[in-house]
Amino acid sequence: MSVAEEVMREGCVTGDRINGLVDGISGSCCARVSPTGTAISAPPASSSSTTLRRVLAFHPPRAPQGRCVCLSGSVRCTAEVADAAMHAPRPPDPKPRVLVAGGGIGGLTFALAARRKGFQVLVLERDMSAVRGEGKYRGPIQLQSNALAVLEAVDMPAADQIMDAGCITGDRVNGIVDGISGSWYIKFDTFTPAADRGLPVTRVISRMTLQQILARAVGDDAIMNDCHVVDFTDDGNKVTAILEDGRKFEGDLLVGADGIWSKVRKSLFGETDASYSEYTCYTGIADFVPPDIDTVGYRVFLGHKQYFVSSDVGGGKMQWYAFHKEPAGGTDPENGKKKRLLEIFSGWCDNVIDLLNATEEEAILRRDIYDRPPTINWGKGRVTLLGDSVHAMQPNLGQGGCMAIEDGYQLAVELEKAWEESVKSRTPVDVISSLRSYEKERKLRVAIIHGLARMAAIMATTYRPYLGVGLGPLSFLTKLRIPHPGRVGGRFFIKVGMPLMLSWILGGNSSKLEGRPLSCRLSDKASNQLGRWFQDDDALEQAMGGEWYLFPMSSGGDSALQPIRLIRDEQRTLSIGSKPDPSNSDSSLSFPLPQVSEIHATITCKNKGFYLTDLGSEHGTWFNDNEGRRYRLPPNFPVRFHPSDAIEFGSDKKAMFRVKVLSTLPYDSARGGEEVLQAA
Ligand SMILES: Cc1cc2nc3c(=O)[nH]c(=O)nc-3n(C[C@H](O)[C@H](O)[C@H](O)COP(=O)(O)OP(=O)(O)OC[C@H]3O[C@@H](n4cnc5c(N)ncnc54)[C@H](O)[C@@H]3O)c2cc1C
Repeated sequence: MSVAEEVMREGCVTGDRINGLVDGISGSCCARVSPTGTAISAPPASSSSTTLRRVLAFHPPRAPQGRCVCLSGSVRCTAEVADAAMHAPRPPDPKPRVLVAGGGIGGLTFALAARRKGFQVLVLERDMSAVRGEGKYRGPIQLQSNALAVLEAVDMPAADQIMDAGCITGDRVNGIVDGISGSWYIKFDTFTPAADRGLPVTRVISRMTLQQILARAVGDDAIMNDCHVVDFTDDGNKVTAILEDGRKFEGDLLVGADGIWSKVRKSLFGETDASYSEYTCYTGIADFVPPDIDTVGYRVFLGHKQYFVSSDVGGGKMQWYAFHKEPAGGTDPENGKKKRLLEIFSGWCDNVIDLLNATEEEAILRRDIYDRPPTINWGKGRVTLLGDSVHAMQPNLGQGGCMAIEDGYQLAVELEKAWEESVKSRTPVDVISSLRSYEKERKLRVAIIHGLARMAAIMATTYRPYLGVGLGPLSFLTKLRIPHPGRVGGRFFIKVGMPLMLSWILGGNSSKLEGRPLSCRLSDKASNQLGRWFQDDDALEQAMGGEWYLFPMSSGGDSALQPIRLIRDEQRTLSIGSKPDPSNSDSSLSFPLPQVSEIHATITCKNKGFYLTDLGSEHGTWFNDNEGRRYRLPPNFPVRFHPSDAIEFGSDKKAMFRVKVLSTLPYDSARGGEEVLQAA
């Protein structure tokens, strides 16, 4: 018999029962110790017991794997007890303490996801009232299906609030139009990919509202304002964030979510310049409701070296972005932004000009657009980056914030995985590997979307509607209005590639999401005509609301022309001539001008479209379509006209009108001014 066996035989087993500490007076339990030596429970209330628990909650040295404490032949240690002792789960280490530099969209989403998974989180935010580091840029942000689905997976009640506060734009036609003519170049269907995959439909929401909802869900106790992180140290076991005012915060890891000018990134990899996109961007928000608000969500108006984006943001407001290619650092004279924009976009379609006219000078802001090319390294040691700090992208796809949200979710998932693995393997949480896994998971998708955002900008830079645009001495060719081959080829490419691309952008991350139902919201409905609107421009125009007007473009000698409101009544015909038509006294307009014939033309309405018929007038009825082509109408043949077209009765431009559709009076006009109406 070995010495050990002899000791076992002579000894009394005590480790097969509960052992622990009791209060000497009351005899009540302070802490119990499991057979493996770890504190397994403690009464929560008294401070003395808490102290004891802290002392006792240690990590016991682990028994080497496979070693059996039950010796063969022993009759005093049952196999059952020994087995229980061996397999009792080692209570896990406390979850890692997470420091987040920056409480923007990405930082808050991550903080929320990590908190919901039980991590201790502290968000250090420089200025809680700021977004993207520049407090005044608080315009709305478009959250697409991919990001909304992430938010649902992170925290359903917060997601519900975001969905309710947002304005759904993905239930309508969105897409690209030619900036001058306003004609559709390509339409994006963002509804079908969302509906097919059971995702929420794209919405636009105020950044501040979004941030407030997220911050409230994260909790005040986890966010510290006025914390400007300027540096950090990582000693291999812990990381310390260093603030500008000298304060220091310790954690197990640090997430740099501090935006495009990230200090954490700088401390990690040194100073690197962000890339200037070559575009400056004016943004504005206006009280304006376009007549097609029910059918069109957002529109990108393309031009050569300039483009314009408008989006419904709900509440009778439209947000717009005007991009212009020029060197960085440009400034405008006081009150000069609107004037400059009206110059830059002069000759563009009404949708653009009306919006600019409806915007107050003070509501216009300007910034140069930068991005950061995605890098191979997103982090080092116990520090990683998230959102704009590592992959700020151009806003052309509206995905920068969405990617930050996706990052935040994935990082929390990887940390949780590392934690679960540590519990399973009874080893400390491998924070460093979990950060690298997160980076690996995100890099490819982010790089592709970053590239697509840049491509969209290149497309705008190189867009030429007609042959001759941008050709210097050959620019006279523009007058011929020959569609540029690049425009035709580009259109084909986009038409084929866009649905695939959209489907991947909106739905490509959804398989990674846990805990959200794979179903759409009841609120996320679209018109049953949506499919038709994608195919048929006329159907889209017919579905537009608002009132149709003919606005005078020139003063006709003695007779001051007035705006004409067209009535959608298929039973009536509007007669136009130099004298009133006695046979149609209710609907007759007379322009006593030299080139207007006594019986000149008629306007009729059919299927919500308006038609102009020249009645064989001497000087003709002329048409300037929204592509800039001018031609004479064939007699007695109804021709459909569209918003932004110009109509001339005679050819001397004395009775010339522009077609406009308005759902409300223009802003200035609503205040009593006539200029906007007349100048339209
Ligand atoms: C004109 C324009 C339009 C856009 N439109 C869209 C859109 O429609 N949809 C979309 O998804 N994206 C859009 N984006 C992109 C989007 O704004 C960003 O991608 C997004 O804000 C990135 O989120 P983030 O949390 O990484 O960084 P940010 O939102 O920039 O947040 C960073 C936070 O960190 C704080 N901070 C900065 N430095 C420090 C520091 N040293 N210490 C502590 N805190 C610090 C800042 O105050 C800020 O709160 C647009 C961008 C632009 C320029």
